[in-house]
Amino acid sequence: MERLFLEAKPIVEKLHMAGYEAFYVGGAVRDHLLKRVIGDVDIATSAKPDEVQSLFDHTIDVGAEHGTIIVLHKNTPYEVTTFRTESEYVDFRHPKNVSYITSLKEDLRRRDFTINAMAMDIDGMIQDFFNGEAHLKEKLIQTVGSPSERFTEDALRMLRAVRFVSQLQFTLCPLTKAAIKEHVHLLSAISVERKTMEIEKLLKGINQKCALEIIIETNINQYLPGLETKQQEIKRVSTYDLQLLTTNEELWTLFTYCIAPSSISTFLRKWKLSTKIIKAVEKNIRYLTILNEGQWSDLLLYEAGYETAVSVEWIHSVMTNPSLVESNSRNIKKLIKQLPIKSRDQLAITGHDVIRCLNKEPGPWVSKAITEIEKAVVMNELENNKSAIKEWLMRCKQEFEQNY
Ligand code: ATP
Ligand code: MG
Repeated sequence: MERLFLEAKPIVEKLHMAGYEAFYVGGAVRDHLLKRVIGDVDIATSAKPDEVQSLFDHTIDVGAEHGTIIVLHKNTPYEVTTFRTESEYVDFRHPKNVSYITSLKEDLRRRDFTINAMAMDIDGMIQDFFNGEAHLKEKLIQTVGSPSERFTEDALRMLRAVRFVSQLQFTLCPLTKAAIKEHVHLLSAISVERKTMEIEKLLKGINQKCALEIIIETNINQYLPGLETKQQEIKRVSTYDLQLLTTNEELWTLFTYCIAPSSISTFLRKWKLSTKIIKAVEKNIRYLTILNEGQWSDLLLYEAGYETAVSVEWIHSVMTNPSLVESNSRNIKKLIKQLPIKSRDQLAITGHDVIRCLNKEPGPWVSKAITEIEKAVVMNELENNKSAIKEWLMRCKQEFEQNY
């Protein structure tokens, strides 16, 4: 059994010793059977949340009302969730009642897709009540039970279905797909945050091309922020190998660039992204746009700064020449290293020096003069040492006096 399951084994054993049932469940079991890298190991148990809390020394109550307690074992958090059913959904997303039960099978029945509704016991035996293993072999995404009912309970499952198409290279079972088309409007009740998480996973998936085609075919895009009428632009996104991108900033840059919203920040705010990502994407797109019409100059590299220049070069290569991403990136890093200075504080002269040299009253002109010095140094027109810069300043004195 894989290391991650073995590391979680003491938790399952402790639950057994106390007389409870406990199994590995969900995505980890699916990925183990698919021989994919497994993510978090989740555990389902017949122990109630308060019983889990009293059994383990280090627990965090993240959602005891839904049956989930985090158990910290050797500094790793594990979600331990009590077997439960969910009844009577309200607003197409929230179960009204969560009831704890003793049956593993009933717990698995509430899960979204057959491939996510399997459990594995401590010895590696698979518990599969809903044909999950068969559907893994057939590469099929199929809901547990009636797709219409399951999507009406929680509309996000429709987006999750397409996300798994992308991540696993599976196809939607025809009834599941038909139900998405029928119930797609229910996605308007789903919070943006949940949609954002799924879309990020979808875009990073190996089969994002097919997944984005399904997004258009099923009209899901009409219920995604800023994408309501962007079918053609989404198709454009699908032509790129997004798996080559290395950060969320890069992913949202390429995505936003292709979607071409009238305001980048309004578009990204609709997706509830952090200010940090929004600022980075805005800056990246500014340079990506320049780069698409021309090429890097020393001054442009300097202005962009190391992080932005390297990211933008990477994204640009993914869009124009994916086989060259690595070498283009190496080249750009070399060019940046060769710049005479990397930032203003590396200049051999300060604002005080400039004031003294030109013997003028301090004012906004100082910063403008420094900017000119910076430009001349970066463009190798001026050597970065004090006396050379002073000499240059004296020569340009008249110009400064006229313009600033
Ligand atoms: P990932 O690899 O992205 O973590 P995952 O399948 O583990 O994929 P999670 O969101 O971590 O997905 O959920 C864990 C498990 O909980 C799922 O495998 C599934 O059994 C169940 N689940 C998650 N979200 C839903 C949902 N909206 N409706 C029903 N069951 C769900
Ligand atoms: Mg998971």
